[in-house]
Amino acid sequence: MYPWFAMGHLTTFLHVSNKFAEKGHKIFFILPTKVQSKLNQFNHHPTLIEFIPITVPEVEGLPNGTETTSDVPFTMYSLLRHAMDLTKSTVENLLKEIKPHFVFFDFTPWLPSLARSLGIKSIHYFIITTASAAFLFRDEPTVDDYIEPPSDFPPSKIKLYKHEARVIYRINNQKEFGSEMKYVERMIMSANECDAMGFKSCREMEGPYLEFLERKFKKRVILAGPVLPDPPTCTLDEKWANWLDQFKPKSVIYCAFGSEARLQREQFQELVLGFEQTGLPFFAALKPPIGAATVEEALPEGFRERTMERGVVEGGWVQQQVILSHPSVGCFVTHCGWGSLSEALVNECRLVLMPHVGDQLVNARLMGGDLRVGVEVEKGDEDGLFTRDGVVTAVRSVMDDDCEIGREIEANRVKWRSFLLTKGLESSYIDGFVHNLQCMLEC
Ligand code: UDP
Repeated sequence: MYPWFAMGHLTTFLHVSNKFAEKGHKIFFILPTKVQSKLNQFNHHPTLIEFIPITVPEVEGLPNGTETTSDVPFTMYSLLRHAMDLTKSTVENLLKEIKPHFVFFDFTPWLPSLARSLGIKSIHYFIITTASAAFLFRDEPTVDDYIEPPSDFPPSKIKLYKHEARVIYRINNQKEFGSEMKYVERMIMSANECDAMGFKSCREMEGPYLEFLERKFKKRVILAGPVLPDPPTCTLDEKWANWLDQFKPKSVIYCAFGSEARLQREQFQELVLGFEQTGLPFFAALKPPIGAATVEEALPEGFRERTMERGVVEGGWVQQQVILSHPSVGCFVTHCGWGSLSEALVNECRLVLMPHVGDQLVNARLMGGDLRVGVEVEKGDEDGLFTRDGVVTAVRSVMDDDCEIGREIEANRVKWRSFLLTKGLESSYIDGFVHNLQCMLEC
């Protein structure tokens, strides 16, 4: 395993490694040195999953000691990708020593040809949905081309707002540091060069997008199934457990936007004012907005006093998986990261969708449009801004069993939850994945 140096990627690769290890396979997992101590707790098969720490090479402009995206702002990610490129000879030596059958990667387009030269097959393992890869992995000449799906796309509700298309266009066209390549070319090259593409997903949810990718890249696309994170073994911090315990079942709004997203100050205030306006208890785990050092200093005037009895806005890391399973939590306002959505779908809370960037945008349309398991908060087409009223409308519509939308969303949510928790589903997907890998070795 050689995932991109970002916690979301490292943990997703580790989740699937755990599933392979459960079946008795041996995994070597290459990662930046200091990350190992953070990931040890998620390695459920230390005898089979061996971490191989490597030093992240120095790159001019990248602060010393940078190891993952969480150490630097988004504008420096390209420097970190360059640092990862500079590990090529280290990885080559490791592959020669380990001699694995397969190497799983995502952000290193040079790895497939290196692996091929050593007789090793490469799997481009995605941490995003197949719908997102199918919609976003394309090099379009204009911003407007990103609003609608690519040609031959399966019938779907997925499209982008104008402001979202502008951001995708900008990201895709960003020049990679130290090369002439654009970001999107790096991603497309990874897909073109690999022996097969792998996803954490199910055919039942995303079948048509998988087939689209197979046609487009002329590659085998293998699904690992839901790859549900193991139920947390830790208990919730007493402070938060006591706080949540005081409310009625399924009444609390929990909100979190993943490990990276930060709002503008005005949008942060609109969001919390929206929670206040719902009249429901709420627990928002949000990073301080851009320009603020703490969430406290960014809260609207008088907010704390008015909501003290029923609201928490927490700027630090919280135990999301445990919170989502707390009986008082009834609604999850999410940024639509694939990790958070997977955690939510196996719990019982209803979804309000507030995507920020990249694959989250497509995930929100997939969940709110195709699968109809959540409601998206309305945003301006041009400016991408939402209002407190928009937040209230979305929360009320999913929480209200007397409204048709609420009932439809709830029925779908129950259906997909029971599908994802079907006995034996996970195991049969992993068996299928391994079977596909074996076929690749034999042919
Ligand atoms: N998470 C958490 N506590 C927080 C915020 C996030 O435990 O305060 C976890 C969350 O449970 C999920 C991961 O961080 O497992 C976020 O992954 P996701 O793919 O949803 O979003 P990303 O961080 O990649 O944007």
